[in-house]
Formats: sequence, structure tokens, C-alpha cells
Amino acid sequence: MLNPFELQCRLTAAAMPSGYESPCGEVIAEIARPFCDEQWYTPTGSLVCRKKGSGKKLMFAAHMDVIGLMVTYISDDGYLSFTNVGGHQPAALIHTTVRFQDGTRGIIRLRDQNDWAEKPVSSVTLRDLYIDIAACSREEAENMVRVGDLALFDTKPRQTGDGCILTPYADDLTACCVLLMAMEQLGESQNDLYFVFTVQEEVGLKGAMTATACIEPDMGIAVDGCYSGDDLAADMEMPVRLGCGPTIKIKDQSVICSPFVRAFMRTAAREAGIAWQDEILTAGGTDTAAIMHTSKGAPAGCMSLPMRNIHSPCELVSIHDMEQGARLIAACAMQTF
Ligand SMILES: [Zn+2]
Repeated sequence: MLNPFELQCRLTAAAMPSGYESPCGEVIAEIARPFCDEQWYTPTGSLVCRKKGSGKKLMFAAHMDVIGLMVTYISDDGYLSFTNVGGHQPAALIHTTVRFQDGTRGIIRLRDQNDWAEKPVSSVTLRDLYIDIAACSREEAENMVRVGDLALFDTKPRQTGDGCILTPYADDLTACCVLLMAMEQLGESQNDLYFVFTVQEEVGLKGAMTATACIEPDMGIAVDGCYSGDDLAADMEMPVRLGCGPTIKIKDQSVICSPFVRAFMRTAAREAGIAWQDEILTAGGTDTAAIMHTSKGAPAGCMSLPMRNIHSPCELVSIHDMEQGARLIAACAMQTF
């Protein structure tokens, strides 16, 4: 049986930012192969794992891209300016260690540090930050890094607390793990099932749009991370708690979930004895919107995994929520509509 923590480690080791997801796709494809009938990639790189059925098309989507940093300029001193790939909280990046694909490591630092004694750290922007890779000149830096190279958080998944994982990229690699765990549990289903690992969600839900156009599903369910109300740093008033089960989303900034799909998910949860949480996310969007509104559209819903410290080098997720989330996705996959 797939182990949630080991899965998280395997996917994190292959993680790449939006637009460069193929290493992660290969790892996911290999793990998913025994659980599906066919696999293919959309023209823009989303991985589709199909388990054939004679009934309607049900599409699940979790995004396999992660947020990253791209080098834009190398100074005479050998310091790197960078831009964001996906959404970052600049203040949270100060003193974060990063890793480039070739193994070069660096630390994110604040320009003109002394000037910040009087200013609020919350006003830091990406332009106030740079990456120090311990080079002493542009030439030395260019031997290690080029403009356009991508940096990732240099943190590894670790287990902590009572069954939690502290990890970069829980958003959304944990959801990819959950889809794989759900696929492993599938029995025979009438539904024609499509498990899609989408690209470029963090830069505008792009992979889910093209995947939806390719598949033309009758219904869709996205799986993603959401804030949790017990995250004091996030200052979100919401009833969702870490470790209290997956959520069934009502709305986020990108979508109002289909009441039909929400009812479908609730019925599946009730019959399988799975506790869920109601989620309204007042910031952020998900692949749900792309499924619901691409080409002719399809009714869509979303299951989220509660996370603390989301979009940071150390996100916190619960293994219990992963396991219950996988059960809920499997129950939805087996239920006809
Ligand atoms: Zn996400």
C-alpha cells in the first residue's frame, strides 16, 4: 500500500515550477501505471491516467506544478535578482535557502538590510530581495547559474506532531499523492475515470483548461490545498481545521462550486463514513474554475486538504486528512451520476 510520507518525499524530489513539470510527471506516471488502463499527456504536458468505464466521464485534477523563483539578472558582485513563478509572500522568503536544478545552493537575502530597521517587513517586495550563491563576481556566478534558471525551496519533507508532514509544496504535491492513493483503492466502476495531474495551475489554471478541452468531462472534481482557520499566521476566519478531514469546497475566488457536485461529494462521504469540513476560501483559486468554464463547461467541485503556512518553504499537512481525502476521492470515483 502506498505510504503517504514516502509518496510526498518521492514527488518533492522531482518537483519543478510551472512550465517545467515533466520530471514530476514521469514519477507520477510510474507510480500510477498499475492502477489505470492508459496514460497520455496533453499537448501542454498535463498527465492523464484513465481507468476506462462504460458510463459518464468523471475527471479528477490535482496540479503537479509548484511555485518557484526565476533568475532575471546577475550583478557585477555575483548576486542574483529574481522574479516569481506563481504567488510568493516576499517577507517569508528572507533567509530561505534555495536550490537550483544542478545542485547549486543559495540563500535569499534582503538588500540594504540596515534600511529596514524602521520599515515594516510586510512591505518587502521581490525587488528588495536577491539570491546569494556565494559567488564573488558575475563570472563566478555565471559558471553556476544563468538568467532563466529556476530555484526551488531547499527543504525536505519531515514528519512532525501527531501524524503531520512539514514540507515544501504540499500545495499541490500532497493532492497529487492523494489522487494516487485513491487510484490504488479503486474497484470496478461504471464511470469513465480520468485522473489528471495538471501543469501551470500556479500561473493561472492553464493545464486544467487544456486538459478539460481534451477530455470533455461530464463532471469534474479538483483536489488542492486550502488555508486552515487554525493557522494564526494566515489570519483567516474559517471553520476549517488541520487534521479534521478533507473539505468539500463551497466557493473560492475563482469559482462557485456546482451544488450538484457538492451534493454528489457529500453523499459519497456520508455513505463511506468520512467526516468532511465545509470550505469557503476568500483568497485564491483552483483548477475547479478551469474545469467548470472551459469550452462548453462541466459541473465541478473541489476537495481541499487543510494546510498551515501555505505558499511557504514549510507547509504543514495532516496524514489523516490525506488518507480520508483519498477515501473520499475513491468513493466519488465509484459512485455513478
Ligand atoms: Zn494549489
